Amino acid sequence: MASELHLLDLHGSLGSPVIESMNFLNEVSHRFPDAISFAAGRPYEGFFDLDDVHRYIRTYCDHAAARFGDDPALVRRHVLQYGRTKGIIHELIAENLSVDEGIEADPESVVVTAGCQEALFLTLRALRRTPRDALLIVLPAYVGATGAAELADMPLLPVKSSADGIDLTDLAEAVGRAKAAGMRPRACYIVADFANPSGISMSRATRERLLELAVEHDFLVLEDNPYGVFSAEDAAQPPTLKALDPDRRVVYLGSFAKTGIPGARVGFVVADQRVESATGPGLFADELAKIKSMLTVNTSPIAQAVIGGKLLENGGSLRSANTRERRFYQQNLRHLLHGLAKHFPPGSTPEVTWNTPTGGFFVVLDVPFPVDDALLEHCARHHRVLWTPMHHFFGDGQPRHQIRLSFSYLTPDEITVGLERLAGFVFELCATARG
Ligand code: PMP
Repeated sequence: MASELHLLDLHGSLGSPVIESMNFLNEVSHRFPDAISFAAGRPYEGFFDLDDVHRYIRTYCDHAAARFGDDPALVRRHVLQYGRTKGIIHELIAENLSVDEGIEADPESVVVTAGCQEALFLTLRALRRTPRDALLIVLPAYVGATGAAELADMPLLPVKSSADGIDLTDLAEAVGRAKAAGMRPRACYIVADFANPSGISMSRATRERLLELAVEHDFLVLEDNPYGVFSAEDAAQPPTLKALDPDRRVVYLGSFAKTGIPGARVGFVVADQRVESATGPGLFADELAKIKSMLTVNTSPIAQAVIGGKLLENGGSLRSANTRERRFYQQNLRHLLHGLAKHFPPGSTPEVTWNTPTGGFFVVLDVPFPVDDALLEHCARHHRVLWTPMHHFFGDGQPRHQIRLSFSYLTPDEITVGLERLAGFVFELCATARG
C-alpha cells in the first residue's frame, strides 16, 4: 500500500503563504509565457555569455596555479575535489569588499554559500536557539528572507517601513513589545540599498541610528546587499552598514546573483562576531560553517572559480565589472519613470503614483484599487503583462493598493509596450469600478 502523507504532518513552513508566494509567482509566469514581465526580479539576459564562464574558470585556475607552485594536480584538486567548508574564494571576496565597499573583512570571517539564500538560512538557523528567539524585519520584505525565517522556525517581529527605509521609532517599540512578551529579538534583517521590493535606500543618519539601536537593545543587524552596486554613476551613496560598524554588530550577506552570474549560485556571509564557549573564543563564521557542513557540505568550487575569475579579471571590483549593466539598469529605470509619467500624468484620473528610487531593480506603484492574485491573473490573460502584487511581501495575503514593477529583465522597448499594457489594465479596472 502506498504511503499517504498529510500536509499537517509536514513542516509548518510548507503550508505558509510565504512559500506559496514563490510557487504562485513562478507558476503564473509559466502559464503566460508571452506576457511582458515586470514580475521577475532577474538580471537582464542579454549580457549572458557562456564563453565568459570558460574564461573565468581559466583565469581562476591560472591564479590558483601561481599559488600552488604550478602543480596541476593541486589545481585540479582545489577546483574539482570536495573543498574547504568556508569556500575557496574568501580572500578574493574580502578584497572585493575592501575595493567596492570600504569594508575591511578578515577572509577567515567569510563563508562562501550557495547563494545569499543559504547565507540567510545558516545565519537564522544559528541565531535561533529557543522559540523565543525572533527576527525583526521591515515589511514589506524580500520573500526569501521571510521564507528562510520560516524554515528556521524563527518568528517574525514586523517593523514599519518609511520613506527612509525603516521607521526607527516603530523598531524600538517592536523591540520593547517583544521583550515584554518574553521574546528575544536576535537580529534585524535589512536591505539598506535599493531594497527589494520597495527600491528605497536608507540615509546615512538612519544607518547610524539603526546601529546605535542595535547596540542599545543588543541585537545583530543582518545586512543584505544584492543591489548596492546598481546606483547612478555619479551618485554619492552612503556607506553600507557594515562599513559603518566598528563593533561587529552587522552580519553582512552578499550575493553574486546580480553582479556575477545568477546560475553560478554563489553568495557569502561575513560573520566576524566572536563566539565565546567553554573551549575559548571562536568566530561566528566557523559556527555557520558547521551548519553548512551538514546542509550543502561546501559551495561548488567550480561555481566559485567562475565568480573568482570574474573578480580577478576586474581587479576585485564588481562596480567596474558591471559598468555596462549599471548603465543598462539606470537607463531602464529612467525609461520606466518617464513612461509612467506619460501614462499617468499628475492630477489625472485614475490617480496612480509611484516612488522614484535612484537605482536597483524595483519601483512600487500605488493604484486606486486593492490588488490580489486574481487581478494579476486577469491582467496576464487579458492584457499580457505581469507584475507582483505587493501583498506577497507582507506575507499575510491581504490585498494592498500596490504593485511592484521590476525593470531589470526587460529591454527599453519591452518596457514601453509593457507600460502601454499596464495602463490599459489600470484604466479598464478604474472604469469598471466607476461603472
Ligand atoms: N536578497 C535579496 C533582497 C534579493 O532580492 C535577492 C534576489 N532575488 C537575493 C538576496 C539573491 O539571493 P541569491 O544570491 O540566493 O540568488
